[in-house]
Amino acid sequence: MAITINLELTDHCNIKCKMCSQSMRSDAHGAPKKFMAFNTWQQSLQNLAGFPEPVHLCPHWLGEPTLHPRFDLFVEYAFAINQHNRLFEKFKLHTNAVQFSKERGRLLLQLSELPFVASDTFNFVHFSIDAFSKPVYKEVKGRDCRERVYQNIVDFIALRQELGHTYPKITIAFVVQPDNHHEALAFQDFWVDIFTKYNLPLRQFYDWPSEECDNLYFRRLNCADQKASDALHAKTVFELGLVNQLTDSLKQEGSF
Ligand code: SF4
Repeated sequence: MAITINLELTDHCNIKCKMCSQSMRSDAHGAPKKFMAFNTWQQSLQNLAGFPEPVHLCPHWLGEPTLHPRFDLFVEYAFAINQHNRLFEKFKLHTNAVQFSKERGRLLLQLSELPFVASDTFNFVHFSIDAFSKPVYKEVKGRDCRERVYQNIVDFIALRQELGHTYPKITIAFVVQPDNHHEALAFQDFWVDIFTKYNLPLRQFYDWPSEECDNLYFRRLNCADQKASDALHAKTVFELGLVNQLTDSLKQEGSF
């Protein structure tokens, strides 16, 4: 069975999501926030050689990985030394897409097509978006950069299509909460239109995506009033047409 290893490039973040405890603390690990040194990254990757289980590598835990000043170099290096997937089987990137330029997208897509790794190695990019309109984005994400984030993702989808790649798969995530549930439908409509424009199939999930595919992921908010949060999530995904029945909660054993 594969094991996911998170090598956190940084615990800094460039936005302040309401639902993220990382954004509410000046330190995330009981120490000043940092950026990983390149030799730590090199050594950590080398240590994956001969690992008994297939490794799924994720360069993120609490912060925003693309904020690392040498993010591109770190990822390029990881792929360059991963011949025949000797170090990691899959690479999974979570990002808020604030620092996700066309140039960065092009580099990542080039890495995803390297001839000496399996074609699904760069497995997915999970974009944490959580809003549709500018004001709601600012309210939920704590920064006024909705237009830039949306454009970055639209550009990445267009570029992946232009290059004819099927990986990395794309998740566009929306954590349902009191400040954004009213625009879940607009969010859904917008992204369905974009994927339809490129004739790309798009799945929709209300729990952690269970397949490797492009998808919209409407996630439950974990919070102090879990009952109310679960009910709001269940009602929202019912209104989105993702379930046929209105219930108090869609949480199941193993739900994320
Ligand atoms: S982008 Fe991620 S790390 Fe940053 S505040 Fe939002 S959820 Fe937390």
